[in-house]
Amino acid sequence: MSPREALKTYFGYDDFRPLQAEIIDSVLAGRDTLALMATGGGKSLCFQIPALVMGEYLPEERRLCLVVTPLIALMKDQVENLRARDIRAAAIYSGMSYDQQRVALDNCQFGPYHFLYVSPERLESEAFRQRLLQLPIGMIAVDEAHCISAWGYDFRPPYLRIGEIRELLLEKGQREVPILALTASATPEVVRDIQVRLGFREEHVLRKSYHRDNLQYIVRRIEDKDKQLIHILTRVAGSAIVYVRNRKRAQEIATFLNENRLSADYYHAGLSSAERNQKQEAWKQGVTRIMVATNAFGMGIDKPDVRLVIHYDIPSHLESYYQEAGRAGRDGLTAFCVLLYNEQDKQKARRRVTDSYPPKEFVGQVYDKTMDFLQVGLGSGLGHSFALHIDQLCQVMHLPVIQTYSSLQLLSNAGFIHFEEEHETAARVRINVAPQTLQSYDLSAEQRNLLQALMRKYTGIFTDLQYMADAKYTNQTPEEQEAQHQLLSGLAARGIITYLPRTIACSVTITRERVDEIWLRPEVYDQRQQQFAEHLKAMIEYAEQTQFCREQVLLAYFGETDAKPCGKCDICREKLKIKN
Ligand code: ADP
Ligand code: MG
Repeated sequence: MSPREALKTYFGYDDFRPLQAEIIDSVLAGRDTLALMATGGGKSLCFQIPALVMGEYLPEERRLCLVVTPLIALMKDQVENLRARDIRAAAIYSGMSYDQQRVALDNCQFGPYHFLYVSPERLESEAFRQRLLQLPIGMIAVDEAHCISAWGYDFRPPYLRIGEIRELLLEKGQREVPILALTASATPEVVRDIQVRLGFREEHVLRKSYHRDNLQYIVRRIEDKDKQLIHILTRVAGSAIVYVRNRKRAQEIATFLNENRLSADYYHAGLSSAERNQKQEAWKQGVTRIMVATNAFGMGIDKPDVRLVIHYDIPSHLESYYQEAGRAGRDGLTAFCVLLYNEQDKQKARRRVTDSYPPKEFVGQVYDKTMDFLQVGLGSGLGHSFALHIDQLCQVMHLPVIQTYSSLQLLSNAGFIHFEEEHETAARVRINVAPQTLQSYDLSAEQRNLLQALMRKYTGIFTDLQYMADAKYTNQTPEEQEAQHQLLSGLAARGIITYLPRTIACSVTITRERVDEIWLRPEVYDQRQQQFAEHLKAMIEYAEQTQFCREQVLLAYFGETDAKPCGKCDICREKLKIKN
C-alpha cells in the first residue's frame, strides 16, 4: 500500500496537505526528520501513515511505531481515533496498573499492533526501557518535540530519555530506527536543540515559512479593553476566538458579550469533556459565534473560517501567541489577530514571573504539604498515583492556588512527582474481597450481575484499581450510568469494592520516594526562570514597539530574518498612511 492509498483507505482523505507527503517520504527513506508544521496542519498523519505502510513491507519485527506525547488526554484521543478506524494501538501512561501495562506491552509484542503511545515519564523506569527493547519498533515519533528543549516554552525533562531509548536500540544491534520529531513552532535554538538531544544522524528539518498572507496582526493600546472588545466584535463579522488568561474571566467575558447581544460561550480545562465537546461543536457549527477561552482551547481544533482571534490578556511567549493567533484564517481569507494591551499588562507580567516561579522555600513547602495531604510517608510512595483536587489541597493546607499549581509543575520537572494538569479521569474500581468470599455476601441480583460483568471484563480487578470503560464507548444511557454509579457506591460503602467515580482532577504520580528536603537544579529552576522572564520581555516588546512590521518581528523570532514587511499590520498601515 502506498502512503496515498493508506491516506484514502484508513482516513478517507483524498489529498495530502502541504508538507505531509514530503515528511512521510523522508521517514520512509529512513531519515531522521524534524517537521515543523502549524497547529492543525495535520502532524499526526505524518507518523501514522508511515507506520501503517512500513508494517506492510518491513519484516514482522519492525511493525511498531513508538509515539511519545506529553498529554494523557491527547494520547487517549488518538488511540481511540485509531481504534475507531480498526487500527491496533495501545497506550501506556502513569496511573495504569502494572497488569494493564503488561497487557498493553504484550499486545504490542505479540499482536498485530502498529502504535504504542507512551507518556515520557514512563521512559524513566529502567525496567520499562528494557521491556521496550523487546518490542518490534520500526520508528519513533516524538510529538510536541519542543518539550525536549530547555530553550522551549514547555520543557519536560523526561523527554530527554527518548535519546537514550534510541541508543539502547542501537546497542541491541537493531538497524537504525528513524525518529520523526514534530512540533508547531520552534525558535532556531530549539530547532537545533531538538536534533541534538534526539541524536539526529544528520540535520534534517522540513518546514514551511511561518508567513501567512491573509493575516493582519494588530496591537491596540487601550485602557478600556471591554469597550474595545465590543467595538471590534461588532465591526468584524464571523467566527471569533477571544483568549483570556484565566477560567473565571473566560466565563465573565462570555456573559458580558451575551449582555451586549453577541453570541458567545466560554471554554476551559476545568469543564468536563462532554461540556467541552458540546461547546466546541456548537462553535464549530457556527451556532455560537464567539468562543472565550483559555489556552486549553485550540489543540486539534480545525475550523477554517475563524475571522478574528483577539487576545484580551498578553500571552507569556511569542510562540504561543503565534500559535493561538494563527488559528485565524485557515481558509486563506482575510482574518485579524488583535492583541489588547495596556500599562497594567506590564505590571501583571512581572507578577507572572513570581507566580510561575515561586520562591524555592515555598516550592519545598508545597512538596511537604502535598505529600502529607496524600499521606505519603518519608521514604515511601514510589509509583503511586493520586487524583488531586488542587482547590481542596489549598484549602486544607492553607496554600495559594496559583503558586501551588506552579510549584507542582516545578516539582514535576524536577522529577519528584509527575504532575498532570486537570483532566477527566475515568472511574476506577477494585474488588476487595476474594472471589469465593463474594458468594457469602447478601447481594441483590443487580449487584451480582454487575460484579460478574466487572470480573469478566477486567482481569486484574482483584489486585489493582481498574479504569472502567468510559460511557462514550459503552453506549450506556445517562440513566443506566447513574444506576451503575449507585450500585457501585453501595458496594463501596460496604467495603466490598473500592470505587473512585469519574472526576476532573489533576493527577500526581510519585516518581521518587518521598525525600526529606527537595533540591531544584538550575536547569529546572534558575535557568528556566530567567528564560521565562526573557520570553515575557520579547512578548512585551512585540506589543510596545512601533517601528517594525508585526509579522516581521514574529518571523524573525522563528529565525526567518529575510521576510518583507506584510503591508497589513497596524504598523505597516501607519507607515503607508504617513507616506501618502
Ligand atoms: P496537528 O497535530 O498538526 O495540530 P492534527 O494531526 O491533529 O494536527 O490534524 C488536524 C486535523 O486535520 C485532523 O482532524 C485531521 O484528521 C485533519 N487532517 C490531517 N491531514 C489531513 C488531510 N490530508 N486531509 C484532510 N484532513 C486532514
Ligand atoms: Mg498534534
